[in-house]
Amino acid sequence: MHRSDRAGWLRAAVLGADDAIVSTASLMIGVAASSASRGAILIAGVAGLVAGSMSMAVGEFVSVSSQRDAEQADIEIEKRELEGQPRAELNELALIYMHRGLDKELAMQVAEQLSARDRLGAHLRDELGIDPDALARPFQAAWISALSFGSFATLPIIALVLSPPGLRVPAIAGLSLLSLGSLGALGAHLGGAPRVRAAVRVCVGGSLAMAVTALIGKMLGVSVG
Ligand SMILES: [Zn+2]
Repeated sequence: MHRSDRAGWLRAAVLGADDAIVSTASLMIGVAASSASRGAILIAGVAGLVAGSMSMAVGEFVSVSSQRDAEQADIEIEKRELEGQPRAELNELALIYMHRGLDKELAMQVAEQLSARDRLGAHLRDELGIDPDALARPFQAAWISALSFGSFATLPIIALVLSPPGLRVPAIAGLSLLSLGSLGALGAHLGGAPRVRAAVRVCVGGSLAMAVTALIGKMLGVSVG
């Protein structure tokens, strides 16, 4: 298997995890910088986890649903065409194989044999680029991304719960950056890309997000509190 084949869902999973860590940690650090109590920081973290998971679920559901609707519409059109003009459709399929480099006779043989086995499947794969065995699944995408977000958002919350009062912000930031770096390296490793570069990139991005929310939290804490 080519490594890039796995990059799609892997990228989505790693992005969801990064998103969960960066947004929850930044939220908690922002609240902590306003010199809020431990309880308030904890509530901010848990609220961020719940809100983020639900927003991921809804966002994934909506986007994968419209992808599925588009696939279903294409499949319906293709079914109708296969019913209505089977001969033209067979020629069309053979033409696709000719464009890919087969000579005319062989292309027709391939088109005929594949059509005999699974006519709709052959058209979906080779004409429309839809894998009939891997159609979009909105509910699956929704719960997987919500679960991924919820799991990784617990990391900064665990850091808060385990840290002594003076070390809350460094503990949340430290564990979050460590996790971000490891995830970045793991994602790059599985995708066959340079590990250190990916880890550094995601850590720099995460640090920036936390620094900005810390600054804003501190300013609001001074002016509001
Ligand atoms: Zn067709």
